Amino acid sequence: MIDKEFIAKQKKVIEESIEKFEEEIGRNSRYSDYGSSEDDNTQEFEVMEEKQALKQSEQKELADLKLALKRIDDGVYGVCLKCASTIETGRLKAYPSAAYCAAHANLKE
Ligand SMILES: [Zn+2]
Repeated sequence: MIDKEFIAKQKKVIEESIEKFEEEIGRNSRYSDYGSSEDDNTQEFEVMEEKQALKQSEQKELADLKLALKRIDDGVYGVCLKCASTIETGRLKAYPSAAYCAAHANLKE
């Protein structure tokens, strides 16, 4: 079993990360306000593609964090989804949204 205090701490870290990501994603979506000439459109497209890629990885991370928060609420946080063993606390500290133990970490992608 994972220490309740540790989970409470992780929950706070996760909630703060979620806030940060949501703020970041909201800020990025306001950037795409360029002019309407052809040059501007090309530039806009390139910037949009870049932002899109950034947004996708951020959104994936945000989704992972939200899932982790749900696992805390469900009382299954820190339990590997594959083998049901307890995920190493060092690993959870480094990746608060980790859903797999080190042995099964590669299953995540
Ligand atoms: Zn495992």
